[in-house]
Parts: sequence; C-alpha cells; structure tokens
Amino acid sequence: HPEEVPELPEGVASHLREEGIEALYPPQADAVEAGVTRGESLVASVPTASGKTLIAELAMLSSVARGGKALYIVPLRALASEKKAEFERWEDYGFDIGVSTGNYDSDGEWLASRDIVVATSEKVDSLVRNGAGWIDDLTCVVADEVHLVDDAERGPTLEVTLGKLRTLNPGLQVVALSATVGNADAVAEWLDAELVESTWRPIDLRMGVHYGNAISFDDGSQREVPVESGGRPTAALVDDALAGDDDVARESGDDQGSSLVFVNSRRNAEASAKRLRDVTAAHLTDDERGRLAELAAELRDVSDAETSDTLADCVAKGAAFHHAGLAPEHRSIVEAAFRDRLVKCVSATPTLAAGVNTPSRRVIVRDWRRYDGEFGGMKPLDVLEIHQMMGRAGRPGLDPYGEAVLLAKNSETRDELFERYIWADPEPVRSKLAAEPALRTHALATVASGFAHTRAELLEFLGRTLYATQTDDSSRLETVTDDVLAYLDRNGFIERDDGSLSATSIGHTVSQLYLDPMTAAEIIDGLEWADANRGEMARALGDGSGAATADGSDAATADRPSANSDGVAAGSDSDDDPPSTGFQRASELASNTGDERGSDADGPAAADNSDPEEALDDVTYPTALGLFHLVSRTPDMYQLYLKSGDRETYTEVCYEREAELLGRTPSEYEDVRFEEWLSALKTAKLLEDWATEVDEDRITERYGVGPGDIRGKVETAEWLLGAAERLAGELGLSPVPVREAKKRVQYGVRDELLALAGVRNVGRKRARRLFEAGIESRADLREADKSTVLGALRGRRKTAERILENVGRQDPSMDDVTSDGSAAQSTG
Ligand code: ADP
Repeated sequence: HPEEVPELPEGVASHLREEGIEALYPPQADAVEAGVTRGESLVASVPTASGKTLIAELAMLSSVARGGKALYIVPLRALASEKKAEFERWEDYGFDIGVSTGNYDSDGEWLASRDIVVATSEKVDSLVRNGAGWIDDLTCVVADEVHLVDDAERGPTLEVTLGKLRTLNPGLQVVALSATVGNADAVAEWLDAELVESTWRPIDLRMGVHYGNAISFDDGSQREVPVESGGRPTAALVDDALAGDDDVARESGDDQGSSLVFVNSRRNAEASAKRLRDVTAAHLTDDERGRLAELAAELRDVSDAETSDTLADCVAKGAAFHHAGLAPEHRSIVEAAFRDRLVKCVSATPTLAAGVNTPSRRVIVRDWRRYDGEFGGMKPLDVLEIHQMMGRAGRPGLDPYGEAVLLAKNSETRDELFERYIWADPEPVRSKLAAEPALRTHALATVASGFAHTRAELLEFLGRTLYATQTDDSSRLETVTDDVLAYLDRNGFIERDDGSLSATSIGHTVSQLYLDPMTAAEIIDGLEWADANRGEMARALGDGSGAATADGSDAATADRPSANSDGVAAGSDSDDDPPSTGFQRASELASNTGDERGSDADGPAAADNSDPEEALDDVTYPTALGLFHLVSRTPDMYQLYLKSGDRETYTEVCYEREAELLGRTPSEYEDVRFEEWLSALKTAKLLEDWATEVDEDRITERYGVGPGDIRGKVETAEWLLGAAERLAGELGLSPVPVREAKKRVQYGVRDELLALAGVRNVGRKRARRLFEAGIESRADLREADKSTVLGALRGRRKTAERILENVGRQDPSMDDVTSDGSAAQSTG
C-alpha cells in the first residue's frame, strides 16, 4: 500500500487512495523494494499501461520531499504537456510543476523555482548547453521510454544527456522507464541502476491472429468473426467489438468495445477511417450523434485544410484517424473523444502507440510491414513496436481483458505472425551513438560546455555511454570521433592544439543555438556567398527577371495582386525595355525560362541603365525565398520528397529563381546533389506560399502534406532563421533580411502585414482583412473607427475587444457598436 512507503510526503498516499489506487501494482511494489523512494537508481522494464508513471512519481515526490529537485524527460513534445497536466495534481501538496518547451536557445532560468520539471531530451540537452544553473540542483531524473536510445535520430541525444546529467550531479538518482526489451540488464548496467523486469499487466492481454472467419488466440481459444464475401476483416473486427460480448457485458456492464486500428501510412489511416465510419455509425445513439456533431464542428474550426473536413466527417459518424500530419488540436480532440468512448474507432499510424494514453478494448494491427527506403521495400516492424501497439488493448476498469489482433490473408501468414510477433521476445536496444551525424553534434556540445578539454577527456566521456558498454571495439568510436573533430576543426568550430580542445566563439554559438554543426556550416557558407555575390545577384534581381517573383507572386500566387512587398520593384515606373548591357546573367535567365514577365513591357524593370548601384539599394537581398531555400537544405530540416513530375516542375522554378538561391546550383548531372537542391526548393516554396498568405488548404493540396506538417516546417524554419540571424550578426553581415524572412514565416504574411500579424489574436487572415479595411498598423488599430474594425473581424465582438485591448486602446468595448459591424453608426 502506498501508506506503507515511509518516504512518501504527507498526503500523497491518501490522495492516491482517493484516485482509486488502493494497492501498488507488483512492478511498482518491486520498485519500492529496490529503493526507488530512497534515491536508488532504477530501470523499470515493464509492459505498456502497467503503471510506470506512478513509479516515476513515487521517486520524484520522495526526492523533492528530501529537499531535492526532479526532472522528467519525455521523448515527444506532445507528451510534455500531457505529463505536466498529470503531475499538476501534486501542486495542492506544495509541489511546483514546470514544463519547458519552446526555444532551444534559452536557459529557462525561471524553472529554477520548480520542484518537478518536464522536458524533452532535446530541450534538456539545450538547457545544459546554455548553462542553466538549476541543472546542478537535480537529485532525481526520470527518462521515460528509455528504449528509444535505440532510435537513430533521438537516441544519441538521450544517451549523451543522461551522461552529462550524471557527470554534473554525482549521486544523481536515475529512473529509467522502458517497454519490455531484450536487454534491460544492459541498460541497468550502463546506468548503475537496479533492475525491475516484469511482464505483469493489470488487464489480461489476449493476442491473436485473424484469418478466414475467426481469430485464433494465444491461449488456444477462437472467436468467430466472419467476413462477408468481398468484405474486409478490419470492418468485421470493429463491428464485432462494437456489437459486444455477453460475457463481457455481465462483468463490466459495458458491452460496447472500441477499436484501435494500426496502419502504416497517413493515407491508409484516412482511407481506413473513411471506410470504418459506416460501421461505427450503425452503433451510435441519438445522444452520441448530437455530441459527435458538436465535436465535428470544433474540428472544422481548427484549420481550413481539407484534413479538418475529412476528419470532421468521420468523427460525426464515430470514427477518426490519427497521424502526425494532424494539427495538435485535432489530435487532442480525437484522443479525448476516444477516451470518453464517443469515438468508437481510431485508425492510426504507429506514432499513437508511443506515449499518449489511449487504451482500447481491441487493437487491430492491420499493417505489420512498412515501406523502408533503405531496405528497398516493405519491411516487417520490430517486435518491440508491435508489442507497444498491442499493449494499448484493455481499458482499465472497463474491460475484463484486452484483445490484440494481427491480420493474415492465408494460413502460412497466420503461422508466421504467431512466430514473428506473438511468441517472440522483443529485440535488444542498441546504442546508435557511433554515427557521424550524432557525434558531430554531441562532440561539439561536449567540448563547448566544458565536459571535455582534451581528446582523451572526450573519449573518456564517450566511454561512459551505453554505446561503450555495448561494444568490444573501442577503436570504432575513436575513429568516428577523430573524423568528427577534424570536421569541426576544418569548419572553424573548434581549435585543436596538441591534444587540447576548445570551442571557438562561433562554435559556442552553434552549440547554444542547438544546431547540427553541418547546418551551421551550410548557413554560414550561404550567407557569406550572398555577401560576396550580392552585387551581381541583386542586379540580376533588380533588373527584372527575378523582380516579379522575388516576393513569391509567381503564377500560383498571383491571384493576390498586392503591393510588391520586398521592394524589389522599386523603380518600376520605368517602362524601358529590359536592359541588356551589364546584366548578362539576368537576361540569360529571362530567355532561358521563357518567363514572359522578363520581357513584358510593363514588367517591373527596376534598374534602368543610368545608375545600377542606386537601384541596388532598393533590392532586398538575400530574398526570403533564398533564405528559405538555404535553411531548407540543412540537415536540421526535413525536406519534402519530390513526387513524380516534381523534378520537372522544380527544375523550372530553380532556373526562374536561380538568382535568389544562395550558392551555385549544382549541375543536373550531379544527380544526388541536384535532387537535394530541388527538394529543398520545394520545401522553400511551401514556406514562401505560407509567407505570402496562400490558404492553408491550398498549401496542403499543392504539396500533398497535412496541416501539422505545415506547422512543423514553419516552426523549424523560424528556429533556423533565428539561428541564421544570430550567425549573420556574429559574422558581421546584415541580419535584417534574415530577421524579416523569419518574421514572415512566423506570422505567415507578406511584409506589409508584419506589424498587424504580430498583435495577439490577430493572425494572418484577420491581419489581411484589417489591412484591406485601411488599418495598417498598431497605431491605426488604436485610432480606427470601431465599426470598421468589427466589420473586418466579421462581427466577432469578443475578438475585436481582445485585439483592441492587446494594442492598448483606451476603451476597447464594442458595446456601443451596432449589429455585426456593418452599420457604422453608434447607438449613442
Ligand atoms: P505506463 O506508463 O506503464 O504505460 P501508466 O502509468 O499510464 O502506464 O498507467 C496506466 C493506468 O494505470 C493509469 O491510468 C494509472 O492511473 C493506472 N494505475 C497505475 N498504477 C495503479 C495502481 N497501483 N492501481 C490502480 N491503477 C493504477
């Protein structure tokens, strides 16, 4: 019983009892036995949903009660807020909870006053790099989902961060929570921790394979789930779960079972939900239909992308899909509605399996293979991953048992699936640290934040990682380290002198900005290239060929004939023919691409022949597109793939806009480099569309992405441009164009709207409508006729008042403005 744990602070045990936690689950009791509430380090390797979070809470609360401070590391940002919300119930007992998300370049000093801090491993890594003082006060660190050290991308960060925290705080308690893995003992050995390993689950899990007309379970039993001829097994399984089970109904009083369907792509998730909504619709009550209609309306309001509508249409009928392309608001609405048993079935990509607490009566693993580019085809998923999906089956307090079902088309596959996933043990986790991209970043950070001053110290630090405990071949780590050090030296990020290592000033900046050194090198090259070639490029732009497009008003966006915002068309009062002398490159471009604007008589021919230098002053260079392209070609940006036909499209864009790109375009014969250049260009075009106010739904359509992807790209671009701004400043280059490009992606507007879009509650669409109503600045908002403001805001009084308040208007009240703002009269 929690009452029997003396280290727990006052009130905690009785609070737990109120929550219905009467007794500790066996793995939790084992953890207490092993000393987790007395400051002992622990690795808990137990199945999904068997109470790992409480183990962490017991450790953190008792550590804080002894005067310490705790940190809970989550693998995903979405989980950070979820965990914080969960821990906030301890605030009543005097524990302050803080969550650290947001920028990677601050030290989060305010967190010093919190007892428990929740953050992602990337965020913790950056806090350490930025020298957050409170890190030294930590007494307890929890690593959630520690098996992700196996992940090539995020794993090394978690591994190195745990290493640094332990170096900074000798005696630090480390509590690592893991799914069941093949080598939990190795993880425990690495962390000098006790091991609690268990397969215990609070709800029985029956695993099986559906083939033909029945599910065969691992206990030898069968359940008939016939599939009509031409029908789909998934639909039959979802229907069967909803139809219920008399035995279950007798036990739990609830005979309606929900289903979670795992598929391998976003497109499949959407298609599956669209089919299954007809199944779920048949099981809804009138009351549920009403509540679902409200949720559907909420979902439609989240964004104007088509995904919102598709999702809303499904949810109205009791089905949903869930994947990383959704906006965070979409996802949380779907998750909550599923937990409330309103949404009966969710078709999801495996991202849902990691983390977010969404238990279901039945889990259907429809796709157990996923396309893998490196593998060159469909590759079976890891046992660990499938087990995590299956572990979502069984709702505590609702279901007597959970069911996890794989699908087989024939009896051989059924047997294979039993062998491969049901009888199989999960794989061991393996460190991915000894790869160049990971070491490049972490070697620089380790040197820059003073964890190593010599090559030997660096190797010694790396020697305490999981990687080192897992390899007999220490020479590999040494070789990669030396390669990486040579790279960092070559690029001016570190200095090597007789075995001693130190970070240069720019190296420190790169580490604090949380950039991959290769990203920083690319940005620095691009900015320096722009500086060296400014004259030539700006002339090419100013002279017309690039001018018409420099603010993104290409054919696709030309439907918005607004002012040429980057000022590149200055001087366009000249109707002269396109100049020819001295602008060789530009006229070449114009004729190469057949861009009619280049030769159009009323095209904006900026530089007339008289004084080219004067015209240059009016040209913004580098342009936003050039900067978007620069950050899009760094390893810190996920680029969009080129689909069929894209190569031609973007090759054309590339030549049209070449004068804006910061660096020489690779030759078309350099296949790989050219492809990458074009992928980055496609990504840059998405950002440019966003920053020229193209509608979200048009962007999703044009690039085949979801609204969540747009936000992801925009956030990354904002971060990288912010970093580029700092780097430009340090290199003595003008940061102004970079800052402007950053603001334009941040707000998703052309530059004439920057002032308005920066006002809270305004946003890109409202800013445009206000602007069109003649309100162009904050000052205008303070002065403007209220009915004009209300009209531009489509009669939304509350919004209008809030906005006026935010710009500091004396009397923001809309009470005296009539109707929906269409009437300009005050009722007086
Ligand atoms: P995990 O992190 O292992 O996936 P969770 O910590 O989310 O699992 O726990 C799953 C559910 O079990 C939560 O809803 C939690 O409140 C509940 N739970 C945890 N421990 C107990 C317990 N000892 N008694 C009853 N319920 C518990």
